[in-house]
Amino acid sequence: MNMMVADMGSNESALGPSPNALAAMFDAARGLSRYPPLYDAEFRETLARTISHDLGPEHFVIGNGACDVLSMIARAYLTADTECIICRPTFPVYEQTARLQGASVNYVDLDPETFCYDIDSVIGSVTERTRLIYVGSPNNPTGTMVSEPELRRLAEALPMHTLLVIDLAYGEFAGESYNANVHTLACEFDNIVVTQTFSKAFGLAGLRVGWGVAPKWMIPHLYAARGMGTVNAAAQAGALAALADLDTVSTRVNTIVDERARVAHTLSSIGFEVVPSSANFLLVAPPDSRGDSADRLTNHLFDNAGIVVNQTREAGLERFIRFSLSNPENNSLLLNSMQTFLENPQHND
Ligand SMILES: *Cc1c(COP(=O)(O)O)cnc(C)c1O
Repeated sequence: MNMMVADMGSNESALGPSPNALAAMFDAARGLSRYPPLYDAEFRETLARTISHDLGPEHFVIGNGACDVLSMIARAYLTADTECIICRPTFPVYEQTARLQGASVNYVDLDPETFCYDIDSVIGSVTERTRLIYVGSPNNPTGTMVSEPELRRLAEALPMHTLLVIDLAYGEFAGESYNANVHTLACEFDNIVVTQTFSKAFGLAGLRVGWGVAPKWMIPHLYAARGMGTVNAAAQAGALAALADLDTVSTRVNTIVDERARVAHTLSSIGFEVVPSSANFLLVAPPDSRGDSADRLTNHLFDNAGIVVNQTREAGLERFIRFSLSNPENNSLLLNSMQTFLENPQHND
């Protein structure tokens, strides 16, 4: 049998980039003797017009992926005599960018049973030196999120020297109004910065385009920390075309959200532990998992079905694997292979 490999390990879109984005990039290639516009005027205006929920272009910054925006935030606000708060387990880039600035990191653990955020502990961990608090919502790799009222409660409790970084990389998968509500928060508070990306819902991870939404006063600091032209002209053209085609994005998001419900339901019904997810991936553990069962499940999925998943090895997540929801065919392949894992005694003793 000629087995295809389905890579479900990196939370990318299995549905591919929008055809309009591809066409726009080919077109833009003809103009590549020119620099992209300084300070991304057209791009920021388009973001403001299409997805801003009432914010003007002066509230936006773009970067070479959301990770570039996270780097700008760390470079602009963290130094060796400051601290940040990271709720773990989470996306490693928060810590990497903070450590590069020499900042100290205070950890607040997610609830070890539900993997939900403990907002009271976050508030209790703020000190005079706390400059940034990172909240991935929905969080990677747990898929759990912080509700808008809880984010508001956190923002209200913070002193002005502490900025709240809300990473909305998976916001599109968290329900229709969630992104809009978080943008409203960013509008109301002077110390909230939101990061977003074209890598997940938009299916353009390889293009490396992300953006930040922040109070006006913060944007010049972020541009100063960025460096020139980190989002190249072809990438800007592709991402702009994707923004002109939001219907495609939302159709694809709906497909993934439906598949998430189907796969989560089926896996729970055959005994897997499934963490409720608001993102485009699921974190699951085999029944009665112990020792090396996550290892064995990871290997089984690859050997049996050619499926690549992410084996989460962070403290507290050793029994889990994380996989991105794919198209219905790949998801069904994964479900069948999960079932054969349970049935194969070799994997169960
Ligand atoms: C994928 C991801 C991002 C996006 O990173 P890009 O640099 O835009 O590709 C940001 N935050 C989290 C938590 C992610 O999982």
